[in-house]
Amino acid sequence: MRTLSNLLAVPLLLVLLLGCCHASGSTNETAARQWFEQFNLDLAVQRNLAVEAGWNYAVNITDENSRKRNFTDKNLTRLFSKSDDIGTSVANATMQELYSSVRTRLATFYNTAKVKDPRSGDMVPLEPNIVAAMADPDVPQSVKRDFWVGWRDESGKKMKNDYEEFVHLGNAMIREAGYANLAEYWQSWYEPTSDFEQTMETLWTEFKPYYSLLHAYVRSKLRPHFGSEIFPLTNHLPAHILGNMWAQSWANVDHLTMPYPESWTVDITKEMLRKGWNSTTMFRVSEEFFASLGLGNMTDTFWAKTVMDRLPNVEMNCHASAWDFYTNEGDFRVKQCTSVTLPYLATTHHEMGHIQYFMQYEKQPVPFRDGANPGFHEAVGDTIELAVMTPEHLVKIGLLNSTIDSNEYYVNYMFLMALKKLAFIPFGYLIDKWRWSVFKGEVTPQQYNSAWWKLRCDLQGISSPVPRSEDDFDPGAKYHVPGNTPYIRYFVSHFLQFQFYEALCNKSGHTGPLYKCDFYQSKEAGDALKKMLAAGSSKHWEDTLEELTGTREVSAAPLIRYFRPLFDFLTEANKNSSEPLTWSSECPGDDWYTSTAAPPVTTAPPPQTTTSGSSGRLAGATWLQLSMAALLGALLSTLLTR
Ligand SMILES: [Zn+2]
Repeated sequence: MRTLSNLLAVPLLLVLLLGCCHASGSTNETAARQWFEQFNLDLAVQRNLAVEAGWNYAVNITDENSRKRNFTDKNLTRLFSKSDDIGTSVANATMQELYSSVRTRLATFYNTAKVKDPRSGDMVPLEPNIVAAMADPDVPQSVKRDFWVGWRDESGKKMKNDYEEFVHLGNAMIREAGYANLAEYWQSWYEPTSDFEQTMETLWTEFKPYYSLLHAYVRSKLRPHFGSEIFPLTNHLPAHILGNMWAQSWANVDHLTMPYPESWTVDITKEMLRKGWNSTTMFRVSEEFFASLGLGNMTDTFWAKTVMDRLPNVEMNCHASAWDFYTNEGDFRVKQCTSVTLPYLATTHHEMGHIQYFMQYEKQPVPFRDGANPGFHEAVGDTIELAVMTPEHLVKIGLLNSTIDSNEYYVNYMFLMALKKLAFIPFGYLIDKWRWSVFKGEVTPQQYNSAWWKLRCDLQGISSPVPRSEDDFDPGAKYHVPGNTPYIRYFVSHFLQFQFYEALCNKSGHTGPLYKCDFYQSKEAGDALKKMLAAGSSKHWEDTLEELTGTREVSAAPLIRYFRPLFDFLTEANKNSSEPLTWSSECPGDDWYTSTAAPPVTTAPPPQTTTSGSSGRLAGATWLQLSMAALLGALLSTLLTR
């Protein structure tokens, strides 16, 4: 959302200030303040209109609601363009239309893809069918492999041409706003004081040895279960057996990998169902945690307008998200198709974290109504989740009878957190690492898929179950790529949330191991959190971070402190196994695939050409200033789950 103000407000402000006021400094300031007050009101109204239209489309996907997201009045579009004091023409509108339609095509490929279930022959969607099959320990790996390939054939593979066009148009448009490319624009949200990409690489390098411990341990457990023949000699983990379509969370292989299987037998999801929990219970429990810190309850509008369950009889986008309607009257909402499970309890807290941020910075001027940086916004709910998921807290909310004070018990607990949070970190890094190089032209369309797999194999240590080529476009099989949603925020958030958590634990007076800390009902922790949230983006994020944690840097140190007993366990366990700690930076060669006994996968028909003849390339066209309509239609984003 901050994107709108950055692009529109700054040039407009400069034009008006430079154009109108040459008087003394104080008069200048008074005039500027008066001008800004009016601008701020207008900006809130504009954003509200855009968010309303986006919400209406997300909860009821129809052609009519899609059209309503864009301005249809060409004259109005032109007026907004002219307001930026830069000439415009019909070509401008043409370019916007092309960009808008390529984005719609990308999203449609993803949202409408269906895959043949190898068991029944039925065509099934990603959610809930394929997601459930990938997560199910009883589904054979060959079925998972067919789903893995089928999903990529039916989604990403069809997008390749359109994605190339999207990159071309997106870069051209952002250049008009003064950025070299989309990568530079996305990174600008972090106001980097040094090389942002290098900072991220340093964080990853610091963390990688700990990820390797988890990787080798999980490999040692999965190899005997699935059989060595599907594990490449390069020591990669096969991507399709980790319980998740993108191998971004390994939480669903917990039963196969748990360090002490006899020590943690409680099924929290079962307990939630047994106690009669529903989606409202989950949202109320989350609200109550924030309230216990002194942060206030959700607003009446929140409860009236939030969508907690899939709506009947409409097509809707079920990807959980949080929305700020910029009304100054407490209109904040979550859209989520909740199922009563422990993972959804975590998601509920994640989205509630966004809502609390919205609430606390509501009084800031609109351009400051945002996270200190995008990673902050993603980290708030997850910080709360770290406290809520402690066995100590689960007892307090009636989902666990008692805790067992043994090392085994807590190693298991930390391991569950690691399968979800630590396994995610390289994935959280590589999506935008890939996109930055695509946006900057360092990776050409002829290298899209091989560059993607280079990162998947090298960083994440996973390999595809079947050979891949440039006929495939596997990045497109992940929602945020066709959805054009930046991703590095989740990587940053996975370090920040442990920094926030440790700081809040300290404020609450917690003593003992960090992983046992539940700062529930601590007003001291609440005050510190509230202060950070209320600042929004009014200060540089390094100042905001320093105020809460005493450091100005995103750091892996608190995360490493939190997981230390688990890392000690993994180090010992890996010594007793024959699994190497490392894997090849290169993917397995095609010869490995042809030499394995795995039966061939049924391949889908070749992809259709997706670039329509009339749209094509816009070579030679003059790119003009972004109009308000293009901004609203193209760059509007909400805060999604990863
Ligand atoms: Zn989020």
